[in-house]
Amino acid sequence: MQSRLQLYSQMIKTEALRLGFSSVGIAKAEVLTEERSHMSQWLSNGFHGEMSYMENHFDKRLDPTLLVPGAQSVIVLSHNYFPESKLPEDAYAIARYAYGEDYHTVLKDKMQELVQFIETHIGAFKGRIFTDSAPVLERAWAIKAGLGWQGKNTLLIQKGKGSYFFLAEIILDLDLAYDVPFTTDHCGTCTRCIDACPTQAILPDKILDARKCISYLTIESKSEIPETFQNQWQDWIFGCDICQEVCPWNHFALPHNEPKFQPVSGLMDLSRRNWEDITAELFEKRFENSPLKRTKWEGIKRNVSFIKGTT
Ligand code: SF4
Ligand code: SF4
Repeated sequence: MQSRLQLYSQMIKTEALRLGFSSVGIAKAEVLTEERSHMSQWLSNGFHGEMSYMENHFDKRLDPTLLVPGAQSVIVLSHNYFPESKLPEDAYAIARYAYGEDYHTVLKDKMQELVQFIETHIGAFKGRIFTDSAPVLERAWAIKAGLGWQGKNTLLIQKGKGSYFFLAEIILDLDLAYDVPFTTDHCGTCTRCIDACPTQAILPDKILDARKCISYLTIESKSEIPETFQNQWQDWIFGCDICQEVCPWNHFALPHNEPKFQPVSGLMDLSRRNWEDITAELFEKRFENSPLKRTKWEGIKRNVSFIKGTT
């Protein structure tokens, strides 16, 4: 017979799927002891580059009770963002996750609904919602909640689904029934992501040197892109999907059905010339609710100029 906690976990999962999340798992809120040395090594190697915020809140990343006092559970949600079609081959490329509306807003709205549901049907609780916005080690929690494994490209891969997913978490002080952590690795002998990365950013043992990753260079870094990267890519002006495109697990990717992740108006028709000529005003108007606003117009112009070799 199902226990009360199993029933609660089941109710939460059913509602999360109804809200449009693709998968959901629940992990016990414990200190992530194994991640401590990985994280500390990665930071001391300087692989995070200019992302100094990664150095902050080190203990909060590892201990969920420092984010939510009395935390018992971490609900981990994934949401598909794989689009029906990609931008035309002759246009500049942007990472697929950025085609539609800003995922922070879309996922937070859905998580608020889930929080409401839990309060109404299970009971009052203290908790916080997170999506790529606070010191939460999302992949570690997703693995602990049984969603999938970390691929050699360092992304979370879900068996039979691939990696084109956003991750989000609710850390809360309710006791729930927990999923079995994912303990197997299904990369096997494959090295396609490592071989395909144009900047050799993927190191052995699932380590990413973010300083070499196109995603970091075109979005997170505020500096000029170093000349050493000239001619290493010809199309990416916001992020990069290469290590996902070549991953055999993404052959299973199916298009999402979230209207807010449909490409923003006119995006699919923007030619290289249009991107080169886009004014700050037009950029602000077109991408005001898009992840592209992170780089601002100046960042996109820098990235376009870099590819054209005119920096
Ligand atoms: S996103 Fe692109 S640059 Fe970064 S690791 Fe993957 S393939 Fe390499
Ligand atoms: S491309 Fe191969 S090695 Fe890389 S994440 Fe996918 S399955 Fe793993």
